[in-house]
Amino acid sequence: MKVVIVGYGMAGARLAAELHARDGDRKVTVLGAEPHRAYNRIMLSTLLAGKIDEPDVELAEVAGQGVDVRTGAAVTAIDRAAREVCTADGERIGYDHLVLATGSRALVPPLPGLDPLPERVVPFRTLDDCRRILAAARGARSALVLGGGLLGLEAARGLAARGLAVTVVHPVGHLMERQLDRSAGAVLAGTLAGLGVETRLGVLATGVAADADGVRLDLADGDPLAADLLVLSCGVRPDTALAAAAGLAVERGVVVDDRMRTSDPRISAIGDCAQHGGTLTGLVAPAWAQARVVAEVLAGGDPLARYRPRPVVTRLKAAGIDLAAMGDAAEAPADGGPVDGGPVEELTFADPARGTYARLRIRDERLTGAILLGDNPAVGTVVQLFDRGAPVPTDRRSLLLGRAYGAAPASPATSPALMPDAATVCQCNDVSKGALVACWRSGARTVPQLAAETRATTGCGGCRDAVAGIAGWLAEADPVAAR
Ligand SMILES: Cc1cc2nc3c(=O)[nH]c(=O)nc-3n(C[C@H](O)[C@H](O)[C@H](O)COP(=O)(O)OP(=O)(O)OC[C@H]3O[C@@H](n4cnc5c(N)ncnc54)[C@H](O)[C@@H]3O)c2cc1C
Repeated sequence: MKVVIVGYGMAGARLAAELHARDGDRKVTVLGAEPHRAYNRIMLSTLLAGKIDEPDVELAEVAGQGVDVRTGAAVTAIDRAAREVCTADGERIGYDHLVLATGSRALVPPLPGLDPLPERVVPFRTLDDCRRILAAARGARSALVLGGGLLGLEAARGLAARGLAVTVVHPVGHLMERQLDRSAGAVLAGTLAGLGVETRLGVLATGVAADADGVRLDLADGDPLAADLLVLSCGVRPDTALAAAAGLAVERGVVVDDRMRTSDPRISAIGDCAQHGGTLTGLVAPAWAQARVVAEVLAGGDPLARYRPRPVVTRLKAAGIDLAAMGDAAEAPADGGPVDGGPVEELTFADPARGTYARLRIRDERLTGAILLGDNPAVGTVVQLFDRGAPVPTDRRSLLLGRAYGAAPASPATSPALMPDAATVCQCNDVSKGALVACWRSGARTVPQLAAETRATTGCGGCRDAVAGIAGWLAEADPVAAR
């Protein structure tokens, strides 16, 4: 069987690895438009912040043994009748099954002065973008970031950590409005200010002027801002052009079913470009789960393999800011009335002076949303309860404040012994505590060994401490085996 994967990003590379790991007589060709080997895109924020180097973001090479990876190979058309794809070089490559993993593109707002993009104005999506931002930041003293969503704030924090004075301009009245309510947004703005990132909220950008000396961002309130560089973080759009031109069903993304098949059963779509159940994902955990489903379907391993969306947890990867947000971000009605037609419990705690905010939304004893900003030892527990839809403890304070009054803050998340086996430790790769324990017992003793066996820690890396904690706990309980 000839499988062609278009896109050598996080989804395409994972699918190639999944297929490579399965038996069968298959020839896999991966065609990637970017000139370099696949990399961990979500770690670009950490690269921008100077915490890691370029080699640290490279994903494991999958070429060889039935997998042919071609970089700098953009696919320009799909000929469904001939079952071939055409590359920019004029090559035609035949397929029995085609997988679109073309991801998203950074959105460049239609502002005067951005077409063509001036040198000092850079979107934040690819490794090349990251290199350009870093090159522009060298010797720069100030930067502007247009867009106060998750990626904009990660870029802003990274540039501030490099010593630049950074201002974030956001058209909405509070930061990260898709994940946070107004109060949390205000606390976050305060935390950022303490880290050297100013914010201008609720103001529209109207134009950009850039020359060799710097960039000016014009604002609707008539008060322009100037800096040495401007980073654009104005959202992404799924890259659906190929699919649309080939006549596949496309809405906001390429429409797929539970098996990730498009309207043509010989073509699948996964990752940021796919639209499943009317929803775009834009995150790595679903992209990797979808890659697994397609690998199972194509390799015939699990005939029942279906993609099942999981609750989404958003975490900000920015030094000095602890933020986890999940579920419903909308403000509760001021009169305390029902939300979405049902009674909810809404608990909040705010200590803006110390950068702390917590909000839990509970319906039928289950968390339907949470925002935890600032140091809160309960964050792991809250994420697990939300992820598994498990009942919350009667004493809500243990979740809201991270500790019960007068009691030690032991929680399933901070104590591996209390964590249920089914608890998901690595959200990106969907690895449970039980899977890690089983691997440890079969000989994988260190974090790198556990990562090699289960892939835990290889996404955003946020679970590294938890994996180390589980390995340490097992070694303590069984010192003979640990030797
Ligand atoms: C800075 C940053 C931080 C992020 N942080 C997080 C995070 O903390 N957690 C999280 O879950 N997600 C995060 N994301 C989002 C995450 O990176 C994406 O969800 C993920 O990369 C999606 O994988 P993908 O393979 O679908 O798309 P991509 O990784 O974008 O890969 C698509 C690839 O397809 C290639 N391509 C497109 N068209 C063609 C064509 N015609 N021919 C050949 N190749 C083509 C593109 O060049 C690209 O290399 C972050 C994204 C960025 C930019």
